[in-house]
Amino acid sequence: MELGELAERLKGGITIGASLSSYTSFGLGGWIGLLAEPEDEGDVENILEYARQEGMEVLVLGMGTNLLARDGGFPGVVIRCGLRFKGIHPTPDGIEVMAGTRGREVLDYCRENGLQGMEFATGIPGTIGGMVKTNAGAFGGEMGDIVQKIKGLSFDGSWRELGRDELRFAYRSSNLPKNFIITRVWLNLAKGKKWMIRKLMSRYLRLKSATQPLSEKSAGCIFKNPSQAPAAKLIEEVGGKGMRVGDAMVSPLHANFIINLGGATASQVLHLIDEIRERVKRAFGVDLELEVEVVGREK
Ligand SMILES: Cc1cc2nc3c(=O)[nH]c(=O)nc-3n(C[C@H](O)[C@H](O)[C@H](O)COP(=O)(O)OP(=O)(O)OC[C@H]3O[C@@H](n4cnc5c(N)ncnc54)[C@H](O)[C@@H]3O)c2cc1C
Repeated sequence: MELGELAERLKGGITIGASLSSYTSFGLGGWIGLLAEPEDEGDVENILEYARQEGMEVLVLGMGTNLLARDGGFPGVVIRCGLRFKGIHPTPDGIEVMAGTRGREVLDYCRENGLQGMEFATGIPGTIGGMVKTNAGAFGGEMGDIVQKIKGLSFDGSWRELGRDELRFAYRSSNLPKNFIITRVWLNLAKGKKWMIRKLMSRYLRLKSATQPLSEKSAGCIFKNPSQAPAAKLIEEVGGKGMRVGDAMVSPLHANFIINLGGATASQVLHLIDEIRERVKRAFGVDLELEVEVVGREK
């Protein structure tokens, strides 16, 4: 299949010469070989077929809110599930959601339709596909608690459905197959009182806004919380708040967030990460593990 034919077949679109920095909340990352934005599952099949024929690597992207994309970019195909790859449909046990639907849109739907169970995700940016893959969570809840089933396509072109009994979720991770793109997710949600759902969501959003730099360019928490103590506390205790390499700075509000002040590069962020790790290791003997995912090539 020629690139022109792919473009004709797609309901969604393709872009050549896009940069990962425009598609990640950190505002970081270099050039993309080919950016493809599917509108439905047929589009995903066609994009993957093209990538296989051309021998191109594939990277799946949601809203890019958990990614540290390197400055050398990604020469392969980036499949971005978002914008038009969305939809929410009621089921007897909750809802069926297309993977590109934003978490915020799902929460709006839950509030309007009196569905409870996902309030914990208020204020977490991301698409449902990305949120399930990373098992996003907060306030004692996580996506793994409510996922009933998922459907998706392996990069080799075979469709799979994975039910509750096959899925395993752990702290910010899941056992989803490698080289697999989630296209639909079924969520188990119970009927609840609208005013209670609204109240809980507002409470969580207030708490999150007061403690996290939500309006800055970041990828959320940089490190997973080790068993000894929250990563933010350890970083704060080694004087990490405000530490800076170029335009990459540890947030003065939340020490486990690195923010891009405007002109940061991924290598500056990685340099800052190394410095934080060293300080924490020296002071507490703790190895901090990344929560953000590093993707793309070095420059
Ligand atoms: C300000 C801020 C606050 C945050 N707060 C929290 C929080 O409280 N709790 C929390 O858990 N996280 C938090 N995060 C991190 C982030 O929001 C979550 O990890 C989110 O679930 C990522 O979704 P995404 O669509 O942006 O995924 P992306 O960042 O685009 O991708 C993340 C991973 O999922 C994969 N992926 C994405 N879509 C699909 C798909 N359709 N099929 C297969 N794989 C896919 C990607 O390949 C990648 O491996 C925060 C981030 C920010 C910027």
